[in-house]
Amino acid sequence: VNKVPSDIEIAQQAKMKAIGDIARDWGILEDELELYGKYKAKINSSIFTRLKDKEDGKLILVTAISPTPAGEGKSTTTVGLGQALNKIGKKTVIALREPSLGPVFGVKGGAAGGGYAQVVPMEDINLHFTGDMHAITTAHNLLSATIDNHINHGNTLNIDPRQIVWKRVLDMNDRALREVVVALGGKANGFVRQDGFMITVASEVMAILCLSSDLMDLKDRLSRMVIAYNHEGQPVTCGDLKVQGAMATVLKDAIKPNLVQTLENTPALIHGGPFANIAHGCNSIMATKLGLKLGEYLVTEAGFGADLGAEKFLDIKCRYGGLKPAAVVIVATIRALKMHGGVKKTDLSMENVEAIEKGFANLAKQVENIRKFGLPVLVAVNRFVSDTEAEIEVLIRKCMEYGVEVALNEVWAKGGEGGIEMAEKLVQIVDGTSPDFKHLYPTEASIPEKVDAIVKEIYGGDGVVFSSKALKEIKKLEELGLDKLPICMAKTQYSLSDDPNLLGAPKGFKINVKEVRVSAGAGFIVCLTGEIMIMPGLPKVPSAEKIDIDENGVITGLF
Ligand code: ADP
Repeated sequence: VNKVPSDIEIAQQAKMKAIGDIARDWGILEDELELYGKYKAKINSSIFTRLKDKEDGKLILVTAISPTPAGEGKSTTTVGLGQALNKIGKKTVIALREPSLGPVFGVKGGAAGGGYAQVVPMEDINLHFTGDMHAITTAHNLLSATIDNHINHGNTLNIDPRQIVWKRVLDMNDRALREVVVALGGKANGFVRQDGFMITVASEVMAILCLSSDLMDLKDRLSRMVIAYNHEGQPVTCGDLKVQGAMATVLKDAIKPNLVQTLENTPALIHGGPFANIAHGCNSIMATKLGLKLGEYLVTEAGFGADLGAEKFLDIKCRYGGLKPAAVVIVATIRALKMHGGVKKTDLSMENVEAIEKGFANLAKQVENIRKFGLPVLVAVNRFVSDTEAEIEVLIRKCMEYGVEVALNEVWAKGGEGGIEMAEKLVQIVDGTSPDFKHLYPTEASIPEKVDAIVKEIYGGDGVVFSSKALKEIKKLEELGLDKLPICMAKTQYSLSDDPNLLGAPKGFKINVKEVRVSAGAGFIVCLTGEIMIMPGLPKVPSAEKIDIDENGVITGLF
């Protein structure tokens, strides 16, 4: 494998087609396309009506083993697999999450694939793109403003200012805003209270945008959001404040899927990007469904490892969208397997075949988990320059012994060409199986029963321990009739347990649920197993110091 230039250098050399041409080639009518410049467009919802009787393509989910902090290449594989499937003659569309601007200025890390498997124009996608984040921020903060305004003008809803659960948001990593005091400065500015900011992608509005089936469903979901409790302990909703209509109006364009392309001109729908911990971490149902109408195959990804991302994709997103995947690709890397085999982070680049044999337990558990949903699996070995032949060989042998299909994945270095084996094996799997997809638990089960199913079946743990605070919250949700929703686990992605240091496939542990919250609009119950960062900070040397633009508009330092 030769040395590859940086992601942004590769992206800037891309031979992009005009997005209007791509749209036309893929059967999107001119009236359905709303251009945002030459290379980006939104797709109007009228397309759903026109294509409603067209048969859906095959849905492929890309997920991963429990990752290292660097990420194992889910986005890269999603893009590369889409390119490869097109190369072998299968019309394929990909669907990804929209990157958040906050992390762009923080720690280096691509959110648009990598190497020769990227979506372009990558600068735009990583910056303001088509303004969706701005619209979500505005809709969210409109609601924040109306809460304080309502209290200021007499508080007829009897909102308890100490029990306002709706914070403010900004698409920026800014730790100084985690805890703030608002309305300082005297009577004219309202009632002083403690508040806080989250990053925009943590907003329930983002989760709703991604789970809604259309604009009216979005509005209904917005109105159901719980924003506070009153002095009697009853929930106060967005609907009580009557701003769901204005919020939906602000979001009227944001709910339309965005169309861009990969380096090889494969259509890519990039739409919505909710947090993968306090939300479900998948792109929008609307974009996914649109892709299924446009292609024979739609390849998409879910955040974090398979125990978190895939479980939520299958139990939350597929449930609300009525989606049935045809197969699941699990991305595995030699470095992550070595980490699960006990190798220190600093030694991951040294050959260690025994560690791979040992670390295989994590991959095996993730494969077993996907099979519990009734779905076939393909392991995609994302090849790094530092991997040795002996290491690759042992991983492939372990997969074969375990009885799971495996393919080498070299899309980062070679683009679609490097994913042909993977694409061919995937098509074979899809053509040769008729999956019997089932969810892990019924939503009618109690909250403890649902969490117990996830912990025992997916994480391999012995059970759940709820804190007394969590138990009180569960009781409250039961009384309010808000407990019959799917579960959204907020847990570390680095381990199958809730302890990031327990690698491999740990046994004999329990999961500690410290807090339970309802996202009544999005339609899930969040179970928090630890402190979850909802407003990140910047590192000592933020990547913002390296990002620059010259007199010709050429950007450098953006990954
Ligand atoms: P994930 O979606 O799992 O978080 P990404 O696809 O975003 O992972 O990849 C994380 C980072 O690793 C990106 O910067 C990407 O360019 C890089 N990367 C992915 N695959 C490879 C590879 N095979 N070799 C080198 N770098 C890679």
